[in-house]
Amino acid sequence: MQADKIWQAALGELQIQVNKANYNTWLKDSRGINYANGVFTVAVPTAFIAEWLKGRLHSVVCRILSTITGSTTEVVFQVQAVIRDSAPGRTRLMPDGGVSIKERPTTARGTGFNTKYTFNTFIAGDCNRLPYTASLEISENPGEVFNPLFIYGSTGTGKTHLLHAIGQSVRHGEVNALYMSAEQFTNEFITAIRNRKAEEFRAKFSRVDMLLLDDIQFLSGKNQTQECIFHIINDFLADNRQVVISCDRPPKEIASLNARLRSRLEGGLVADIYTPDHKTRLAILDLKSSLMQASFDTTILNFLATNFHGSVRTLEGALIRLSSYSRMSNTTLDVDAVKQLLNDMIAASRQSGGHHTAAAVINAVADYFAIPPDDITGKKRDLKTSRARHIVMYLLRQQNNTNLAEIGRVLGNRDHSTVIHGYNRIAMDIGSDSQLSKSIEDIRLMLKSRGSA
Ligand code: ADP
Ligand code: MG
Repeated sequence: MQADKIWQAALGELQIQVNKANYNTWLKDSRGINYANGVFTVAVPTAFIAEWLKGRLHSVVCRILSTITGSTTEVVFQVQAVIRDSAPGRTRLMPDGGVSIKERPTTARGTGFNTKYTFNTFIAGDCNRLPYTASLEISENPGEVFNPLFIYGSTGTGKTHLLHAIGQSVRHGEVNALYMSAEQFTNEFITAIRNRKAEEFRAKFSRVDMLLLDDIQFLSGKNQTQECIFHIINDFLADNRQVVISCDRPPKEIASLNARLRSRLEGGLVADIYTPDHKTRLAILDLKSSLMQASFDTTILNFLATNFHGSVRTLEGALIRLSSYSRMSNTTLDVDAVKQLLNDMIAASRQSGGHHTAAAVINAVADYFAIPPDDITGKKRDLKTSRARHIVMYLLRQQNNTNLAEIGRVLGNRDHSTVIHGYNRIAMDIGSDSQLSKSIEDIRLMLKSRGSA
């Protein structure tokens, strides 16, 4: 039997066994590409999806495949960026060739939500695939999977946007969603205590179906507030009410966080979001300029995407300046004019750090471990050098969203699976290895103080 026929049959079976949202999120774009010697290879669009399927559905898939083929079959999930556009009219092509799950109605009347932040105005790309698909899924099946969903990433990567998008999408279905920043939570909690109304404060959350809590890093060191949030989150989880949390770092990197709360935060899906790559930045610029009813030449959009690679907020700021200038002056801008107009913003964006060149990261890590930079890019495989190399992979992937192939290239032409492996090693160890998380924090500080752009 051919691999694709077998996989079609398996997908038919999986569609029955897995709920619809899970199916759409993790399986819809997969293909059966090879079946040999009892091993069946399934192609999926991203490494995240491969990891997820491996972790959650591996044995189910093996069982189904074994039944269909009539002999014991092992499955491997392999990343391949070829995706079918299976439902024309309902799907939208994404900058990385992926496809967004569904166009959604813009709803959002009422309070608390920013009507500009919906799924329709969010560009999905490799940088946010996992949190994006998880958010879509949650808005369809709140409380059923991924509870809590914990989204983390640096500033301006779209975390608040996603929280609002979820809230507005489920409001449509009569779910009472509450958006709150952790700062707002803290202030209300303190006021409640002062007025001896702590009970009422907590009771307010029992009337909420979904809690969207933004920027939880703000709670670092605030013990009493953490205790209160811990109990509230427990109440939500006990009744399968959805909790979505955002943070600028993973739970294990939040300093002075109550251990019980940390373990709650890690108990669902922890999904990271990176600063977008060039293609995604272009798609965001394209969308945002049409929302502003401005139109710019591709060379100008390209110029912006090349010069602002940190926060999307900064990218948007540049676009706003250009669009108001061209409206006021009633002129069409060329690249030279744009360069001049944005001179200060480009310099500030470079200075603000967050984006470090690969060379700067390699040098900082080499200095930290007191080894020559050439060892990191070279062939040495001793423990210390490998560790240093993996940390470079981790930092580049996290801080800069340099793509995997590019990271491999600067590290002496290593292939992208080696990079994923290195990244995963650090991402996994960082929780249990406090020395490692301290090293990474120190290297980040080093990079910041060097201000390398
Ligand atoms: P964060 O909360 O991570 O700091 P925000 O959600 O406030 O970031 O995003 C900052 C700005 O960038 C917002 O205007 C948001 O609409 C925009 N933005 C970020 N990521 C995307 C994206 N993937 N698609 C569209 N807009 C985005
Ligand atoms: Mg935010």
